[in-house]
Amino acid sequence: MLKNRSGRLFTPVFAALFGGACFLCRGAARGLLCDDCGAELPRLEGARCPRCALASPGGAVCGRCLARPPRYDATVAALAYEFPADVLVHALKFGGELALAPLLGALLSEAVSAAPRVHCVLPVPLSRQRLAERGYNQAAELARPLAAAAGASLELFACERSRDTPQQADLPWSERAKNMRGAFRCDRGLAGKSVAVVDDVMTTGATLDELASALKEAGAARVVNWVVARTLPPGAD
Ligand SMILES: [Zn+2]
Ligand SMILES: [Zn+2]
Repeated sequence: MLKNRSGRLFTPVFAALFGGACFLCRGAARGLLCDDCGAELPRLEGARCPRCALASPGGAVCGRCLARPPRYDATVAALAYEFPADVLVHALKFGGELALAPLLGALLSEAVSAAPRVHCVLPVPLSRQRLAERGYNQAAELARPLAAAAGASLELFACERSRDTPQQADLPWSERAKNMRGAFRCDRGLAGKSVAVVDDVMTTGATLDELASALKEAGAARVVNWVVARTLPPGAD
């Protein structure tokens, strides 16, 4: 048995795959999660701002997006970034648990099933250095099943990080937009294309905003964010 960084116990994916144990609670499971844990995932429900996916009365564009419009056009998130979604996302991102990608990808695919069609699906790129350290890009692993389900082309190399940036998670929220400025370069012509950008977690949206800007400079007509989990501001739902 392993402990993740927050000290919670979880079973490696291979046990869930071959031993019939739920990844979260170790109870009997047919898939990676038992029915109870699957049902208890913190799905984002209720009226949400179409731009940023935070709660908004009547589903109208929220005051924050009206005051400072982000450069992406829409955001769809499947889950709130809270327990136990955080455990799953963390295990995929840092624990090498790649078998979680199809599960989280399927949840996201369900969430975007009613969204307008896109031409291409593009994961948020990692820097070469971080990709070499981690060995995989969790966003790319999520983007694969999504592109297939959406019947869209998978663009793994259309964009890259033009410079390495400190981890956003290590910075205060107020510093994150500045940290990301000019971080992406897109060489692929995307004239008139509708692009879905896939990531595991959206917190301030600074990374996605900067990437949307680079994609629009490359000609993209519309950029939407498809994220597994949305960090909610304190007190929000
Ligand atoms: Zn369970
Ligand atoms: Zn908003």
